Amino acid sequence: MRWIYGAGCAILRKAGCEGFMVQLKELLEDVAAGHRLTSRDALLLFGIRGRDVWDVAAAADALRQEKAGDAVTYVRNQNINVTNLCVNACGFCGFSKKPGDEGIYVHDRTAIVKKATLAHKRGVTEICTVSGLHPDFTAQSYCDTYRWIREAAPGVHIHASNPMEVAYAAKKSRISTEDVLVRMRDAGLGSMCGTAAEILVDRVRRKICPQKISTKEWVRIIKEAHNLGIPTTATIMYGHGETDSDRVKHLAILREIQDDTDGFTEFVPLSFIHMNTPLYRQGLACAGATGREDLLMVAVSRLFLDNFKNIQVSWVKEGVKLAQLGLLAGANDLGGTMFEESISKGAGATNTDYLDPEEMRRIAGDIGRTLVRRSTLYELFP
Ligand code: SF4
Repeated sequence: MRWIYGAGCAILRKAGCEGFMVQLKELLEDVAAGHRLTSRDALLLFGIRGRDVWDVAAAADALRQEKAGDAVTYVRNQNINVTNLCVNACGFCGFSKKPGDEGIYVHDRTAIVKKATLAHKRGVTEICTVSGLHPDFTAQSYCDTYRWIREAAPGVHIHASNPMEVAYAAKKSRISTEDVLVRMRDAGLGSMCGTAAEILVDRVRRKICPQKISTKEWVRIIKEAHNLGIPTTATIMYGHGETDSDRVKHLAILREIQDDTDGFTEFVPLSFIHMNTPLYRQGLACAGATGREDLLMVAVSRLFLDNFKNIQVSWVKEGVKLAQLGLLAGANDLGGTMFEESISKGAGATNTDYLDPEEMRRIAGDIGRTLVRRSTLYELFP
């Protein structure tokens, strides 16, 4: 069964379409039977309102159970944001600083080793290092950081960098992005962050992050990483004023890449934290996604991204309570413990520093699921 209308379910409702419920039911049954959603289907699902939202969430939850089982997974991880000084000025970013601002930091080798040593003592299995684009950084700077972390925390998986950092390092070192990735991999990069994706629609990127790499560049570098055997995550940063159609275009790009490379480990929807961001302060963005949008983002992603096993719900971005509901709407992963978090905090989020696994266990148990610890690449710990 396919939808006849192409302009969203609001139109179906306004037109008094009596078959709406039947069509939605059939669509969700089709997905459960293994039918791949079209972009038009996803667009319609993003437009769902009222109690039908629960039907979409329930269908996504059933698919989650089939694909990923009943475990709620998490990783024991820590961020080391090496610097908050950044040459870019993304409108949604409340973390970066410009020369002359108060509170600028750049961690040197001693500070990074100290943080990595502490992370190791905490039993962390993953360290993330995404940071500002420091004016003096080159490819060597990133590689040095990974080596220092490896020395201080042997065996820890380095989940670092993103396509923007790779493009920046390549430009600063006058080498290709492929060369940067090879050097990073040799220095210890285990997997790359799929951040800097924001919304993969250039019209939106020009508004929210005009200095960032284009959609084409992001896709090219991600595929380059996958082809070099470097897995990555996939993300979307939504809720700042993009349209449902932009969200669908973004998901379609990710699904196409995954068909091609199978290099994404997970999909992580990142809800826009608005409070301290230039975009919001200038009245150019709304105050983040609504709860309905947060739930549908998880659910539609689960239904549309049929080639992704893992959908993460970010307690840092959504808050713990809404994250728990996300686990009932298609997500199977709670993300990381985050012993240190600065990026969402900078944008105005609170309580982002650490979520105790015991609290995660309570959240999972409360919805009848079991918490299981995993590695970055989703190997489960006994
Ligand atoms: S999002 Fe990243 S690249 Fe953009 S201003 Fe913030 S730190 Fe810099």
